[in-house]
Amino acid sequence: MKQVPFAILALAVSFHAGCTKKKAGSDIVIGSAIYKYDDTFMSGVRSAMSTAAEGKAKIEFVDSANQQPVQSEKVDLFIAKKVSALAINPVDRTAAGVLIDKAKAANIPIVFFNREPMPEDLKKWDKAYYVGAKAEESGTLSGQIVVDYWKANPTADKNKDGIVQYVMLTGEPGHQDAELRTKFSIKAIEDAGLKTEKLAQDTAMWDRVRGQEKMAAFLGAHGDKIELVLANNDDMALGAIEALKAVGYFKDKKYMPVVGVDATAAALQALENGTMLGTVLNDAQNQGKATFALAHALAQGKTPDKATIGYELTDGKYVWIPYQKITKENRQVAM
Ligand code: BGC
Ligand code: CA
Repeated sequence: MKQVPFAILALAVSFHAGCTKKKAGSDIVIGSAIYKYDDTFMSGVRSAMSTAAEGKAKIEFVDSANQQPVQSEKVDLFIAKKVSALAINPVDRTAAGVLIDKAKAANIPIVFFNREPMPEDLKKWDKAYYVGAKAEESGTLSGQIVVDYWKANPTADKNKDGIVQYVMLTGEPGHQDAELRTKFSIKAIEDAGLKTEKLAQDTAMWDRVRGQEKMAAFLGAHGDKIELVLANNDDMALGAIEALKAVGYFKDKKYMPVVGVDATAAALQALENGTMLGTVLNDAQNQGKATFALAHALAQGKTPDKATIGYELTDGKYVWIPYQKITKENRQVAM
């Protein structure tokens, strides 16, 4: 038999392996863009994704710096590098359609998370998915926390007019969680038979410092007429608590019920201290785990289902992670 030079043999073997071997372990690269790194909740999701990927695949994370053009460029780079799957937390959820077109053209499966694409965009391709939580559910649960408190504490109605005078700190306009938490929290309060009066509402863009500034402005305009503070997330609620402390709340029996969403570590601390009345667990752990599991299964060419990803798929496209009401009493479940 004629000697085959080693280099050629090695080349042939590796070529063969490259063609037939299923992608596994370190071969799999998932490209993930986060809308901005500087977001408390998204940091939790990102770290859950990293933990889930350990020993199974490589995730390359990029910061989209809260700019859709930056994100789109980073997605182009992932596609040029031929990543095995994309996991995208869109800056602007209406941009999902364009990202799906690009992913489809390159045949790279795409999983969105935390910011929900429009249903008609997700329908564009059978390898486009969403992992998230039902925004209206978080609104309803935060409203229920208020109802429980109001019914148990007659002094909550400070001016005794039978109406809940509230202020609302909203997240980013256009974000499903901002729109629906705002709407469904009030709906839950009214559905329980309480009347409400909105004294003020403004966006603090999910941000703690802005939450503090907006709350200081609300206090300046309405002072002690305010009977309740609702915030679309914990960071803004914590900012509001700072503003309330600055005008004497949370000492000498001066109290204000403040309700957020997420159950971040800082919020759990505030529940313990008694400055935050309640929050809603937005399960970063399971959202991160499910996003990775789905992207990982798709990267290997598997059909995603309960058996391959460990989570139920709804309508073949959605993984919904449930929310949970959290107060001082049950805060342990969110730790
Ligand atoms: C969280 C916010 C977060 C936002 C980012 C929401 O689900 O509750 O805390 O800032 O997602 O998209
Ligand atoms: Ca009142």
